[in-house]
Amino acid sequence: MTSNTGTQRRPVVVQKYGGSSVADADLIHNVADRLIAKQDKGVDVVVVVSAMGDSTDELHALSKAVTRGAIPDPREMDTLLSTGELVTSTLMAMALKARGHDAVSLSGPQAGIKTDAVHGSARIADINTDRLRKELDRGRIVIVAGFQGLADSGDITTLGRGASDTTAVALAVATEAERCEIYTDVEGIYTTDPRLTPKARKLAEISFQEMLEMAVLGAKMNPRSIELGAVYDMPIYVASSTSYEPGTLIHGGEHTMEVRKAVTGIAVDRNVGKITVRGVIDRPGVAAGLLQPLADAGVSVDVIVQNTSSDGTTDFTFTVAQASVTTAAQVIEKQSEVEYAEVVVGSDLAKVSIVGTGMENAPGYAARMFSTLSEVDVNIDMITTSEIRVTTIIERDQVQKAVQALHDAFELEKTE
Ligand code: ASP
Ligand code: MG
Repeated sequence: MTSNTGTQRRPVVVQKYGGSSVADADLIHNVADRLIAKQDKGVDVVVVVSAMGDSTDELHALSKAVTRGAIPDPREMDTLLSTGELVTSTLMAMALKARGHDAVSLSGPQAGIKTDAVHGSARIADINTDRLRKELDRGRIVIVAGFQGLADSGDITTLGRGASDTTAVALAVATEAERCEIYTDVEGIYTTDPRLTPKARKLAEISFQEMLEMAVLGAKMNPRSIELGAVYDMPIYVASSTSYEPGTLIHGGEHTMEVRKAVTGIAVDRNVGKITVRGVIDRPGVAAGLLQPLADAGVSVDVIVQNTSSDGTTDFTFTVAQASVTTAAQVIEKQSEVEYAEVVVGSDLAKVSIVGTGMENAPGYAARMFSTLSEVDVNIDMITTSEIRVTTIIERDQVQKAVQALHDAFELEKTE
């Protein structure tokens, strides 16, 4: 292996492999193959790994077992959780060395990742790449344990569930990598959830903005990592860890590979609940009076609709995650000081959105969406829009019908 000098550096590529891609010894060797192949192309390879399979869940379960259900100490919890990724990173280094390839594993702290002190959802403050650079310059493949860092206190922190993606994008930015490659158990980002329609098509590319709206689709990408990519303009390539089929490039530039379509994809969220507060006295401060207690209770509110009042009262409706709907109703009933007639809870709803930067400043897409839904008898409960998205709230059991009709209407199976 030839080594690098500081003046003639090879391009850096950061790759990340998710838990299902490193779930056993064979899969670890599959990744090792791919790392070697990548390095043979003449690039410096930094690889971020997640914990094997469901081992993070297992660590959570173990902590619950020993605390007998009480909330574990956050500092101990973070150190515990960080071990999941250490298992993978060290085994990966061993697998590479066993094949005569020089490699080194680094924990988040060893890789110079500094974070704030918020255990369980720490934010990366800074990355000192000195050690990493030194190892790359020795010709080594550098394996970094995902989703962890070091707080100023000297304690290990973790960045939140699914945050190995964030580690990877942050390392790509810090090492000025050409791009960040995320390898996973899906082949890329699709026009919609392929389980809903066989016509779902893998996209060659998608913009950061669109991907943020679609974040729950196909590849379960962590939205924070997309935000980070967008802020630093770091292209993110999402592809399968077990095939060499082309994946999807998430980037900030203009669409170049595909003729730009107005609608890029259909995002679906099947876990939506609704709260309607009826007969709210219409006066300044009402919206804040209803929503502030929810924010204080950590319930995030999504779509909000307030009707104009007749008779001095109004109905105020909003959606929350299905799992939070009971809490939300209780918070309003017990803590809100706003006067109202009754709280009505709606469940089993879903959110279906058309997404595309091409819709910006182009009228007519919302109308086409609504007429398509009416043609297949899907009733729209609520509507909200952003510049690049039109969202409808519908009944959950109508999702498949709605998505298939919209996919056809906007011709998403075609590339142009
Ligand atoms: N192992 C962590 C989790 O399961 C981090 C990750 O996979 O990205 O949440
Ligand atoms: Mg995981």
